[in-house]
Amino acid sequence: MSILVVGSVAYDTVETPAGRAERVLGGSASFFAVAASFFSPVNLVGVVGRDFGEPQLAAFRGRPIDLAGLERMEGQTFHWQGRYSQDLNSRDTICTDLNVFEFFEPKIPAAYGRSELVFLGNIDPVLQRRVLEQVERPRVVACDTMNFWIKGKPQELRETLAKVHVLLINDQEAKELSGEWNLVRAARAIRAMGPRTLVVKKGEHGVLLFGEEGDCFAAPALPLETVIDPTGAGDTFAGGFMGYLASAPGLSDATLRQAVVMGSTLASFCVEAFSLDRLLTLERPEIDARYAVFEKLTRFESL
Ligand code: AMP
Repeated sequence: MSILVVGSVAYDTVETPAGRAERVLGGSASFFAVAASFFSPVNLVGVVGRDFGEPQLAAFRGRPIDLAGLERMEGQTFHWQGRYSQDLNSRDTICTDLNVFEFFEPKIPAAYGRSELVFLGNIDPVLQRRVLEQVERPRVVACDTMNFWIKGKPQELRETLAKVHVLLINDQEAKELSGEWNLVRAARAIRAMGPRTLVVKKGEHGVLLFGEEGDCFAAPALPLETVIDPTGAGDTFAGGFMGYLASAPGLSDATLRQAVVMGSTLASFCVEAFSLDRLLTLERPEIDARYAVFEKLTRFESL
């Protein structure tokens, strides 16, 4: 079952307490696609400039990632620069050079129109909706967004959310989107906007999954001794989550819980190196072994 992802493909310049990485591969669609490709074929829709060449594309080669939807435009590739705090819990955006991304109009190749799972990366909600108009009745539509769109295009975002099954956002965004400071109340308000499933990411504090009314599942993040760069952890989580769903038979509560743990597993590898470096050396047995570590981390006996 193939997954369609629409989002940014970027050059990132990142500073963390562990060091600095200059103009390395980044972007929401890049992290997502590589993570999801461990489980399922991925169709990638995005845009790059003329400065994005074969060495960068090599990250996607040799994996079931179709690049027919990766448009190449005159100009420079999107460039994002960020600097993390000492504890890695916050970051400042130093610059966002949209470059060709400013003119991005997602064109979904006809062959992708039947994708059964769709992940709408963090882009303008109007563009997210146009993507959905080009896809025939997908089984699962998941979506990311950010404060910029929550504040800047609230109505457009509401229209997109009405067509989304799973929303993946961080706790701060959930509070802003709902206007509620309590996450349980926030989840109820957001689920009433459309998404039946809400995944709230809380960085090093893990993830909360809200399903049917009152049903909540919590997964921790793996306590890691060395974290090099958290960039892309959210998109990598989404890739592991959606990839697992694509490879599973249904969408039961148990499957959603497994998908959350698989997303957390992939994210735990992402932060171990700059850019996609760790994801690119990752092998399936390592994923399965770390999933088992998560199982052990959260297992406890009944009273
Ligand atoms: P995350 O750490 O999950 O928030 O994702 C970081 C990735 O998002 C980086 O690789 C950036 O290239 C990309 N990114 C940052 N700002 C934007 C933006 N405004 N639109 C699209 N992608 C972005």
